[in-house]
Amino acid sequence: MKAIQILETGGPEVLQLADLPIPHPGPGQVLIRVEATGVNFIEIYFRKGQYKASFPLTPGSEAAGTVEDLGPGVTGFKSGDLVASVSVLGSYAEYALVPAAQLVKVPEGLDPEKAAAAMLQGMTAHYLAHSTYPLKAGETALVHAGAGGVGLLLTQMAARIGARVITTVSTPAKAELSREAGASDVILYTQQDFAAEVKRLTGGKGVDVVYDSVGKTTFDQSLNCLRPRGLLALFGGSSGAVPPFDLIQLSGKGSLFVTRPTLWHYIATRSELEWRAGEVLGWAASGALKLRTEHVYPLADAAQAHTDLESRMTTGKILLEP
Ligand code: NDP
Repeated sequence: MKAIQILETGGPEVLQLADLPIPHPGPGQVLIRVEATGVNFIEIYFRKGQYKASFPLTPGSEAAGTVEDLGPGVTGFKSGDLVASVSVLGSYAEYALVPAAQLVKVPEGLDPEKAAAAMLQGMTAHYLAHSTYPLKAGETALVHAGAGGVGLLLTQMAARIGARVITTVSTPAKAELSREAGASDVILYTQQDFAAEVKRLTGGKGVDVVYDSVGKTTFDQSLNCLRPRGLLALFGGSSGAVPPFDLIQLSGKGSLFVTRPTLWHYIATRSELEWRAGEVLGWAASGALKLRTEHVYPLADAAQAHTDLESRMTTGKILLEP
């Protein structure tokens, strides 16, 4: 089968197309034929060596596809089922293994491209808005990178709850998309002091929660956007990692809370995975959640997909199709 292989850390050019054997499903595993795979920032962190991995590596954890074969002990799935997961063992490939416990069925009416586009960023937006800081109607959230993959979905979910959503973006074109997703106020953080703008927009009060995936360049100022006892959910570092931080600052800035959540801890049980995936895929199927796919590349163009995502040019999802 065709698959992307990384032999060593480096730039997008280390993503090489290779011919590899189709894997056999072991106990509790399902072999899927990948129809669409999602490209996510975490694969960039692994490729660069920011997160540790062992090489050779076939990257990718998010895909939708059809069930080809079941390993010993697997029940609940059959050959030909359309399924999706964020726990695929190397989804940049024509075939891949998935632990059955982390596989869900795709509901009627949703094609594999949409399912792959919705799963990882959708469930991330879901846990942030519904669990990390369960937003309530009338509360105010600041969402950084509001026109990004997670940003567009998180804005829609927060707005649907009835929260006021302030976002930051880097360009006027991204601002337009963020407004369409439901942001009431959009700040061009490349031109404006976003903390001062947030204070102005909230009458000096500050927001209840900041969802920050940008990290290095936004973290300090994000703290200055919060109301006393507000919460900063630092869920990514697309601008780089946040340097070591003195916790005493949280006291001086208003007894603040900071968390560094990751999706895996919010889908750790079968019931939580089914709840989140069920809602996200259900909303995507009904059209209640609008998905924006920026680009669908052939597998061989994985390097281009990474270049696009890293270069800050994308708005929404990038997919690979084997
Ligand atoms: P995005 O589509 O949001 O792309 C990243 C965006 O970050 C860019 O479009 C850009 O928006 C903004 N950005 C700001 N500074 C930089 C910079 N220096 N370089 C690149 N981008 C920058 O990506 P995703 O939706 O796929 O992921 C968003 C973030 O969420 C990532 O950090 C990812 O790691 C994280 N994540 C975390 C998860 C978790 O559970 N913790 C799960 C899923 C994703 P703009 O141009 O508007 O500034």
